[in-house]
Amino acid sequence: MYPAAFDYRSIASLDEALALLAEHGDAAKVMAGGQSLIPLLKLRFAQPSLVVDIGRMKGMTGVGPHDGWLTIGALTRHVDLERARDLPRQLSLLSEAAHWIQGPFTTALRPDEILTEIRVAASSKPAAGAYNKLERKVGDFATVAVAVQIELEGGKVSKAGIGLTAVGPTNVKATAAEKALVGHEPTDAVIAEAARLAAAAAEPKDDIRGSAEFKKDVVRVYVQRGLKTALARAKEARA
Ligand SMILES: Cc1cc2nc3c(=O)[nH]c(=O)nc-3n(C[C@H](O)[C@H](O)[C@H](O)COP(=O)(O)OP(=O)(O)OC[C@H]3O[C@@H](n4cnc5c(N)ncnc54)[C@H](O)[C@@H]3O)c2cc1C
Repeated sequence: MYPAAFDYRSIASLDEALALLAEHGDAAKVMAGGQSLIPLLKLRFAQPSLVVDIGRMKGMTGVGPHDGWLTIGALTRHVDLERARDLPRQLSLLSEAAHWIQGPFTTALRPDEILTEIRVAASSKPAAGAYNKLERKVGDFATVAVAVQIELEGGKVSKAGIGLTAVGPTNVKATAAEKALVGHEPTDAVIAEAARLAAAAAEPKDDIRGSAEFKKDVVRVYVQRGLKTALARAKEARA
């Protein structure tokens, strides 16, 4: 399907973009890379009368330490994150992100706001994460995906973050599973219990990608697998 007609403006400065959003409100939509927005326009889930392209705006790219935070510019490419040196050592837990997603296609962002950067608390302790996604073919929506992040201190888990996606109306923060890890040595038994609790927190639905029961079990397996990978990476970071 073709998108509904819209005006297009390519913007060079943040002030100019914010002024357009203030003027047009909900009728305007910001576009960065367009990888999600264009499909949404084509499906007519979004029908803005103005698209404000910020993709060429200067000063919102890059990743690195800044005043005790790790900052990631809103226009940073995935490949730049992948290639960023020392990133895995500095990354701490993305716990605040849970408040950002409010529902399907809905975030806490207001129509006149632009996200300029993400700040993650930098950590000096050994920390690492892992992301596992099950998809029917490359580029498909996730059947189940699980992100985990742990921080170690004295052989025990000092912080843990477990995020589940595609298994509920929003991303799920598996808090009971996180609590089961913190303060404990990450033994096989502790990891298995955290994985069980994370699966219990998932609320998947039966659909063409699989039954709810199957998806819950994938959560369990991916939490277990992700924690073991993160643990090995954190130990490597410490070495
Ligand atoms: C083949 C493929 C595979 C993918 N796999 C995954 C996956 O496994 N996991 C996953 O999480 N995602 C996945 N995605 C989604 C992908 O992460 C997003 O499409 C991409 O990150 C969106 O970035 P963009 O710059 O293209 O945003 P756009 O499409 O330009 O924008 C997306 C939305 O964010 C808003 N927006 C953009 N920038 C700003 C800003 N600075 N301030 C305020 N609002 C803004 C836009 O208005 C729009 O509503 C996949 C996409 C593709 C095409």
